[in-house]
Amino acid sequence: MAVAIVCDYGSAMSDLDAETTVAPLTPHDPDQWHPTACILCENNCGVEIKVSETGRFTRIRGDKAHTESKGYTCEKALRLDHYQNGPHRLTAPMKRMPDGTHQPIDWDTAIQEIADRFLHIRNTDGGEKIFYYGGGGQGNHLNPPHGIALHRAFGGRYRSGALAQEKTGEFWIDGQMVGGHTTGDFHHTEVAIFVGKNPYQSHGIAEARRVLKAIANDENRSMVVIDPRVSETAALADFHLQVKPGTDAWCLLALVGTIVQEGLADDTFIREHVTGSEGPLGRFAVVPVLKYAEICGVPEDQIRAAARRIATAKSACIYEDLGIQMGINSTLCSYINKMLWVLTGNFAKEGGQNRHTHLVDITGGGRQSGVSPVTGARIIAGLVPCNVIPSEILTDHPERFRAMIIESSNPVSSLADTPRWIEALDALDTVVVIDVAMTETARHADYVLPVSSQYEKWEATFFTGEFPQNTFQLRKPLLPPAAGTISEAEIHTRILKAANLIPEQTFNDLRAAAELGRAQFAAAFFDAAAKDPTVGAAAQIVLYDTLGPTLANGAQNAALLWAIAHRAAPKFSAAINRAGIAGEGPELGENLFEALLGSQRGVVFTVDEYENSWDYVSTPDGKINIDLPEMLELLDALPSDGPSITSAEFPFVLAAGERRSFTANSIMRDPDWRKRDRGGALRISPVDAERLGFNDKSRVKITTPSGEAVSEIEITDIMQPGNISIPNGLGLDYPDETGEHMITGVATNRLTDENYRDEFAGTPFHKHVPARLELA
Ligand code: SF4
Repeated sequence: MAVAIVCDYGSAMSDLDAETTVAPLTPHDPDQWHPTACILCENNCGVEIKVSETGRFTRIRGDKAHTESKGYTCEKALRLDHYQNGPHRLTAPMKRMPDGTHQPIDWDTAIQEIADRFLHIRNTDGGEKIFYYGGGGQGNHLNPPHGIALHRAFGGRYRSGALAQEKTGEFWIDGQMVGGHTTGDFHHTEVAIFVGKNPYQSHGIAEARRVLKAIANDENRSMVVIDPRVSETAALADFHLQVKPGTDAWCLLALVGTIVQEGLADDTFIREHVTGSEGPLGRFAVVPVLKYAEICGVPEDQIRAAARRIATAKSACIYEDLGIQMGINSTLCSYINKMLWVLTGNFAKEGGQNRHTHLVDITGGGRQSGVSPVTGARIIAGLVPCNVIPSEILTDHPERFRAMIIESSNPVSSLADTPRWIEALDALDTVVVIDVAMTETARHADYVLPVSSQYEKWEATFFTGEFPQNTFQLRKPLLPPAAGTISEAEIHTRILKAANLIPEQTFNDLRAAAELGRAQFAAAFFDAAAKDPTVGAAAQIVLYDTLGPTLANGAQNAALLWAIAHRAAPKFSAAINRAGIAGEGPELGENLFEALLGSQRGVVFTVDEYENSWDYVSTPDGKINIDLPEMLELLDALPSDGPSITSAEFPFVLAAGERRSFTANSIMRDPDWRKRDRGGALRISPVDAERLGFNDKSRVKITTPSGEAVSEIEITDIMQPGNISIPNGLGLDYPDETGEHMITGVATNRLTDENYRDEFAGTPFHKHVPARLELA
């Protein structure tokens, strides 16, 4: 099987046999800076990298010419060589043997066996029993869609990804209120509000630390932070509402209650732009502010002062994140906190909250599309809640899942209840993992397919959520594929063809049409899709194999951008034109496609005025709808005396997965990438440490209702008594210099429980795990 590859140095390496060939680096200048992006968080800051002749990343710096990040990075980007290079990289497909070990096999055998197994499941149990998990992490969104296409082609219906353990509650609320995702204009706002969010470490805003410092240093601007810890962001805040863990809903209600009861709401805005306000306003009018302030442990006058500052500011906007989204009352908290910008009229304005354009709507408009087949959990944004997936497998229910494709993801490590996940994977008929490394999940797969890294293929992120300018960057490969690896797009194309799901003649005809021109290709593609629904279902793969080879510089993996551009063009035509991309109708789609293809340092693809936010509100009456009966019901049921998380047996609230200076999901496996806090110490307050007789050298046993682990500790007054935290992304195994596998830090999800989740969206309570501590 042959693949044609063009690397960044302009040298075509055609007919590279990925089975046997160790791809050599072409001669190049090791002093040349190559533009690309950091892939360690959703911001994908533009960076430039120098690559040595052996493929090491020798120098990394922020790319000042990058459209969005303008040279900004945090310290994490400088350590990307630990992702790209190391003994973790897989170089041959692996098959699980009857004794449980994995042995290398050749690509053709692996592809054919996988195709045959999926065909068998489709023909006996139905294609909807094949489940897809993953889809691309932070910067890997161009290739995994080919996996979703393959899944659809086999008849797959159900899938999930990390967003279903984080954001689906908020997506649903945004969808109900305005038809889709909103974003805060933090660069221009007068009052920035962060709820369960520490942008200093978890970013999420372009140039996050610059923005935070600018707000903190401007006496006319303010920052409000709701967080139980004195996070780096909270330390910069004018109002740090240091809630007791798990009391965010009460704190938010006290803020909103103050605004309504003190007559601070923007009545004109509500009258003109808000639908269904009667029920919610009636409830907020009777919130017992003092009592709720006591429940959340924040002085009432501090809450009232923060509420007044928000309501009287020229502008305010909000970023909520995992602190509440992975906590109790998660979806309800999303609903209440959005009242802060709705009731104060902070929508569609500079410094406020805004709807934005997108290339791919990863939120699915926040729509619910049915329920999962076994547990009946809500499917929001097309995603089955991560916490119910094991229960969708470990059952004799006839609709249970029988097989999984897992791509660029490590659910055994990243999702709640590791032992239950392992049991679920081992119970499936077929598990295929596609990854750069032999992950904790891959160890339970029937087939592990080694994929090229994000710097060895064309890649991009679809986290394009900026407003009023929205940007996109298509990244060129910096290196040829590592020996034995191919891209996800190529893997899925080969499986589709091995299963004969689309006749080869269709591919031939479309390739011939693509040679004639895009207009001819478009006509032929839609004709083929009309005749054969599998062509439409597997569109990304078809585009890769037919239109892809015609793209300049070997950008075959980027062919799906053609369909994306043509879908976005009619939706956002005026904003695309304002970005300087001319044309209308299909011509605009083509011009947008060309602009995306040429965006190696980022391109602004839409430009809006603030009032254009209203153009993207898709509720039936074009207003903000706050009458959400499901949320009002949850609000009415909120315990009037606060939450009950702890007990005599488990007196601590553990935040399992704190974002720190050197954490990055599970993509960074090499523990040496962490310059500080290598083992990811458990953080504990001085008061608790003294009471339990711990000192800086102590090793402690953490016990939760689901598991136990041993950790080093860090005694720090950023933690309040009763609250402890461990970082995310640790507990991964990695070979040391002798080849011995070592595990560094605590694997958080050995301490969590799949049933401990939000009753509405199913998102986990990772930030509020009951726990106890003792000396190890
Ligand atoms: S981890 Fe840091 S450098 Fe990398 S994308 Fe995020 S903010 Fe930028």
